[in-house]
Amino acid sequence: MTVRQLAVAAIAAAALVPPARVEGTPTICLFQRVTGKPCPSCGLTRSWSATAHGRLRTALAHHPFGPPTFFAAVLIALQGPTLIDRAVLRDPRIATALGSLWLVTWLSRLWRTGQGPASVLPIRMPSAQ
Ligand SMILES: [Zn+2]
Repeated sequence: MTVRQLAVAAIAAAALVPPARVEGTPTICLFQRVTGKPCPSCGLTRSWSATAHGRLRTALAHHPFGPPTFFAAVLIALQGPTLIDRAVLRDPRIATALGSLWLVTWLSRLWRTGQGPASVLPIRMPSAQ
């Protein structure tokens, strides 16, 4: 299966499955099941489903990277991976910036939900007294 075919399949799945069906299912995320905390990608499936059904606000609430990655997949489906491959993946500065933005987004999601990154670590931080 090529990257283009994978993009088409993922877009079709997001568009064909009703959002209520996706939102009503329990998480299959191993990280979340083990730690009780969301992983950096938690919410992307729900976000893609909402994006495919034109519910952009809901999509952004599920995961801020859902709509941009969905539209990147649409670009790949239409043009193949060459544009994104040349523009993004082969430039280490852009790849680093996107990776850093993804990490900052995850940390901010943890903080917003009152689950700072220290609570994800398996060690206990000494309390300041
Ligand atoms: Zn997850």
